Amino acid sequence: MPILASIESCTGCSACANICPKNAIRMIADKEGFSQPVVDDDKCVNCGLCERTCPALSANLPWGTSTPKVNAGWHNLDRRISSSGGMFSAFARGILSEGGSVFGASLNSDLLCRHIEIQTIGDLQLLRGSKYLQSEIGLIFRTIKTRLEDRKKVLFCGTPCQVSGLRKFLKKDYENLLTIDLACHGVPSNAVFKSYIDKLQKSLDLSPGNQKIQGFEFRRRDGWGMFPSYSVDGSRFTPVYGSNALYMKAFDKSALFRKSCYSCSYAKIPRIGDITLADFWGIGRHGFSFKYDTMNGVSLVLANTEKGLNAIKSLDEESFVEERTLDEALIENHNLTNASPCHPQRDEIIRDFLNEQMSLKKIGKKYGLTNRNLKEIIKEYSSKLGLFSFVKRIYNKVKSL
Ligand SMILES: Cc1cc2nc3c(=O)[nH]c(=O)nc-3n(C[C@H](O)[C@H](O)[C@H](O)COP(=O)(O)OP(=O)(O)OC[C@H]3O[C@@H](n4cnc5c(N)ncnc54)[C@H](O)[C@@H]3O)c2cc1C
Ligand code: SF4
Ligand code: SF4
Ligand code: SF4
Repeated sequence: MPILASIESCTGCSACANICPKNAIRMIADKEGFSQPVVDDDKCVNCGLCERTCPALSANLPWGTSTPKVNAGWHNLDRRISSSGGMFSAFARGILSEGGSVFGASLNSDLLCRHIEIQTIGDLQLLRGSKYLQSEIGLIFRTIKTRLEDRKKVLFCGTPCQVSGLRKFLKKDYENLLTIDLACHGVPSNAVFKSYIDKLQKSLDLSPGNQKIQGFEFRRRDGWGMFPSYSVDGSRFTPVYGSNALYMKAFDKSALFRKSCYSCSYAKIPRIGDITLADFWGIGRHGFSFKYDTMNGVSLVLANTEKGLNAIKSLDEESFVEERTLDEALIENHNLTNASPCHPQRDEIIRDFLNEQMSLKKIGKKYGLTNRNLKEIIKEYSSKLGLFSFVKRIYNKVKSL
């Protein structure tokens, strides 16, 4: 029987399940809802392929440069409907317009997050926006390999551990593959998110079966750094505050993550993807001036490889990029170079999220997750009064003095 990564180091990347020639590995949710590989003894022939492929056991891959080219950027058509500046969509547009395939994370109608393939620009809306939970890979690495061998252009975007899993699975670099990794704070499980949605449904007192939460945005996309919001019709989104926003409060405080996230081996420079995308938090505020309005979001774009550099050069005319420095990029972006520290009550908080009897209010109060500082109170009230953009503009001005 193969010995795969321990529960502390397994990232759930699914490379082992994808590589197994006997389909002997299934990814099954553990008691916290995180997918773990489980080997079927009856099917396994002990070939050892899964062990050799697992990035948590041996990460022998070429990484990007330790001096990446740093850019700030956005895409004019995607910026206001994406999480930061819409640079993911900018790269995706290039691949799709050449008949290629783009693979990324999508929430389905049951609000389950998993990676899917899209082949048209019209379907980009299925992938746009950060879903702050683990996206299930399923067996999609096999599809990616087929596309690559059919000589199609492929873009894969995911967390760094997923990019690493894909690269180990493929065993070699393909010139028609572009990989994008994200700066990564950590991932909660689909089960915890589902439980939160059920509790939110109750807390908002939406009549069951009548008004069901059908859509969720982890952060509003029409302003940089806005509140999470839900939708009952899939199109209009309503922001949530206080204990109703508990999921994102617990996410920010690193209370819900997979165990491997707290010792993440990808939180460093050099990076594993050709490109790294993140929010360019603090741009223009640390002694390096930036003459453009940042209110609608700015992506941080690191070109880690020659392929990454070429992808930036090939962006369309609706894309804006400006070179910046790595020093500025790292000042407010802790997770590019550091794993998130584990919340001391992480296990109990996850248990309570999964407990049907615990309401969002009770959990928030029990762990002090809804306590707010002055900045958070101002953010919340200015949003409720429709003054968020105005207040943020003043805040940015004062911070950059
Ligand atoms: C779990 C997670 C943690 C993050 N943590 C940080 C952080 O600490 N600091 C920071 O600066 N940025 C972080 N990001 C990245 C940030 O939220 C934006 O995704 C990034 O700035 C790119 O934004 P965009 O506007 O270019 O594209 P968007 O359109 O917003 O990004 C969409 C792309 O992100 C991918 N994606 C979305 N959700 C997931 C997921 N759950 N798993 C894998 N891929 C996903 C999709 O495949 C899609 O390709 C995180 C993203 C995720 C998903
Ligand atoms: S050892 Fe081989 S057959 Fe067994 S689970 Fe791993 S890859 Fe599959
Ligand atoms: S290949 Fe990925 S999912 Fe499989 S054991 Fe290793 S880290 Fe876990
Ligand atoms: S923090 Fe690290 S281990 Fe966790 S999902 Fe992100 S890249 Fe993977």
